[in-house]
Amino acid sequence: MQLLERSAVDLVAAVKRGDVSAMQCAEVYLDRIEQLNPQVNAFLAIDRERALARAADIDARRKAGKPLGLLAGLPVAVKDALCTADMPTTCASKMLAGYRPPYDADTVRRLREADAVIVGKTNMDEFAMGGSNENSAFGPVRNPWDLSRAPGGSSGGSAACVAADMAPVAIGSDTGGSIRQPAGLCGITGLKPTYGRVSRRGLIAFASSLDQIGPMARSAADCALVLEAIAGHDPGDSTSLADAVPPYSELLEKPLEGVRIGRVSEHFSEGLDPEVAKGVDEAFAVFKAAGATIHDVKLPHAKYGVPTYYLVAPCEASSNLARYDGAHYGYRSSTKPTGEFESPLVEMYCRSRGEGFGPEVKRRIMLGTYALSSGYYDAYYAKALQVRRLIRQDYLDAFAQVDLIGGPVSATPAFKLGEKTGDPLAMYLVDLYTVATNLAGVAGISFPCGFTAGGLPVGFQLQAPALAEPLLLRAADRFQRLTDWHTRRPKAIG
Ligand code: GLN
Repeated sequence: MQLLERSAVDLVAAVKRGDVSAMQCAEVYLDRIEQLNPQVNAFLAIDRERALARAADIDARRKAGKPLGLLAGLPVAVKDALCTADMPTTCASKMLAGYRPPYDADTVRRLREADAVIVGKTNMDEFAMGGSNENSAFGPVRNPWDLSRAPGGSSGGSAACVAADMAPVAIGSDTGGSIRQPAGLCGITGLKPTYGRVSRRGLIAFASSLDQIGPMARSAADCALVLEAIAGHDPGDSTSLADAVPPYSELLEKPLEGVRIGRVSEHFSEGLDPEVAKGVDEAFAVFKAAGATIHDVKLPHAKYGVPTYYLVAPCEASSNLARYDGAHYGYRSSTKPTGEFESPLVEMYCRSRGEGFGPEVKRRIMLGTYALSSGYYDAYYAKALQVRRLIRQDYLDAFAQVDLIGGPVSATPAFKLGEKTGDPLAMYLVDLYTVATNLAGVAGISFPCGFTAGGLPVGFQLQAPALAEPLLLRAADRFQRLTDWHTRRPKAIG
């Protein structure tokens, strides 16, 4: 079998046995990245030299009979929102162009400790704000299934690189859907773990109470393996969970008999593309055939998810992004003081932020600053927190009746580049099915459950209670044992 077609689980096993070298894996993927990146624009940085040196070291250790880590020799692409001490970290923003963090994100550290080979940093929406990757300061990513379409966002580079076989596995981050939505639109599998399951240390903050790092891969089994390597308590993130990390990849075997899956009827209202609805319904039938039972559940406040999210997230962002002022961090304007501002310092701040941030980031900072300002705080931010609590309660009530909740991940398949860029509200509505998971702090996974007549992937989303990743991954893996949607590859490229 071609190296590029092998699963992550399989590759790691082959490297450990010595059937394939880490060097071969790295070379094959780096060649593919160099061949396709001009078309797809999934990578902002590629690190051939260090990746090959790392692979050589892994091979040498294997030959010397030393034990290798959980991800031995596995090429991994990392979203450019995660700090890497040996590669630039830009968050796809002019504000951080050329920035080199002094330390690795906890996830990056764990990847290295597990003997993964980091091949590069992936493109994204600027500061992870967006759902199409068109907000990148370094050009949009193209969807490998149709290069005229968006891959989704904000982890669009991570999704597209896995879909195009430029990496078997990528790391993404999900604040309101940024792992699950691009995974769905690119026909791959993406897991947003429970809030706190993976440390956020070294993830450039967008909305700290919602941000979560997770794996994106070709299958749930591959996601399980990567989650096992990156999850765990980190004293450097006070919100990371102390609970022991289960061996996710060894907990996939048990069949789904008796597992109760909820179906939210409001998810199937108008606005849901009929081809998506069909794929999702067929997926429920697969779960039923696998022994699960399907039940109607209600999430009565889910309809307030988008407005709630678009208050909480911008409020937190306006605070988190205050540090980029041209002095403490980031881009500094080179314009000489003109005397038009109250002081040269204020002018430097204003010009640096004005020139360094893109339009969507500015919009979020302004929305958040407005909603947090005195006189509006109670009406907007405090109200949003109250609704967030109701949404969380909906999930607690639903998970008292069912083990998992299934449904669409996005209302439509991948849309055309440029289709929604003129209408921020239309872009925000793309997040309809994904934001509530983050507001509630629970876990979610998305994976392909069919294709449209035009050949675009359709995604299915499963959500689980906090820390129920073993069941979530087992259910998605069972689906993938019974279907072959996740094995299809795009023909538009390569
Ligand atoms: N599309 C959402 C937004 O624009 C979600 C982004 C994310 O999860 N990082 O905020």
